[in-house]
Amino acid sequence: MSHVRCLRCRGCDREYPVEALNVCDFCFGPLEVEYDYASISRAVSRESIEAGPLTMWRYHDFLPVEADRALDMGTGFTPLIHAKNLGRRLGLENLYIKNDSVNPTFSFKDRVVSVAAAKALEFEFDTLACASTGNLMGSVAAHGAKAGVPAMVFFPSNLEKGKVLGAGIYGAKLIAVDGTYDQVNRLCSELADNHRWAFVNVNMRPYYAEGSKTLGYEVAEQLGWQAPDHCVVPGASGELFTKIHKGITEMSDVGLIGSVDTHMHIAQAEGCAPIVQAFERGETQVLPVRPDTIAKSLAIGNPAAGPFALRTIRESDGSGVIAMEGEVVEGIRLLAETEGIFTETAGGVVISALKRLVERGMIEPEDVTVAYVTGNGLKTLEVVEPIVDTVQIAPTYSSFEEAMAANG
Ligand SMILES: *Cc1c(COP(=O)(O)O)cnc(C)c1O
Ligand SMILES: [Zn+2]
Repeated sequence: MSHVRCLRCRGCDREYPVEALNVCDFCFGPLEVEYDYASISRAVSRESIEAGPLTMWRYHDFLPVEADRALDMGTGFTPLIHAKNLGRRLGLENLYIKNDSVNPTFSFKDRVVSVAAAKALEFEFDTLACASTGNLMGSVAAHGAKAGVPAMVFFPSNLEKGKVLGAGIYGAKLIAVDGTYDQVNRLCSELADNHRWAFVNVNMRPYYAEGSKTLGYEVAEQLGWQAPDHCVVPGASGELFTKIHKGITEMSDVGLIGSVDTHMHIAQAEGCAPIVQAFERGETQVLPVRPDTIAKSLAIGNPAAGPFALRTIRESDGSGVIAMEGEVVEGIRLLAETEGIFTETAGGVVISALKRLVERGMIEPEDVTVAYVTGNGLKTLEVVEPIVDTVQIAPTYSSFEEAMAANG
């Protein structure tokens, strides 16, 4: 039995039934899943979770889907790596990388889609769809293939090749829209009103968003059932950031871990940083921007969870950090060279933001710090092309020796 009580408006608190709804009829606020925490706390223990599958579904009691209805491709329970080399470089003794780039479609989006797709099947939708900044569409396409339902994905036409081909190969219908993500998202909202399609991040959004909480649970469990001191998380819509904190807090609420004092830091790229800028201006609402950034997976100018992300920053005594456009690829290289982990631009934003946080003195050397690496570098190869060199030789011993001598 799932422990879901209802959907509730994050704006005015009105209650809604557990259906394919995402917006409040009265205040247009977003809806969120509400649980019976007393019932969850009776159902779970550290032992019961440890005995579960080595996927995100070990936390099914905290998710709005019955365990036997999960659309499980093996997502989650990804490595949490003590990053000693990178830590030494930055002056941090307890730095961890949550490497979520190794999920089935190589980004954390498999977590949110795993939940939303299961719910869509439960609601008997016949098509999976999404508005994507790149990674979501690959995940929706793969889950559609696994479930045997058609997938239709909409995305800005300027995306990286790896993202487009990496979705198309699963057989999804690819709709490239000449416009920004925010325009794609608006179009998808209109389509969702007129078709019986499950847009995972539009009409299925309340369920979709819950999947990100598992990135909070896993880290706490992998740290030996304790909350970290700092989380550094990339932000696009701001949902992932908000839900990681919700996940960690829920674990404490049901008694799985002690009290939580985790500082949440959201990382955005210079060319699309509406949440960080609102935080720096001391505002509670986010002023939309027109994105122009190398970090295309984070290019949302009008973030749906913006106000909630701002609340999470304030409640957790965290911060917002901007990575300069010119430093994103440096962040990718630094992580690759120190830890052997190849991340995409979003991860470059996180590593570069982490460096900045340390320089500003916001993280102490001994603090337990988790940097979330949410996507895989093989999907954004074009950005590292300029910094990778090849030594070209003929297939002879002397050619090799000459080349080595010339290269020093
Ligand atoms: C989508 C995405 C994010 C941000 O997710 P939001 O919940 O929209 O803030 C971060 N990293 C990667 C790699 C993504 O694809
Ligand atoms: Zn409302």
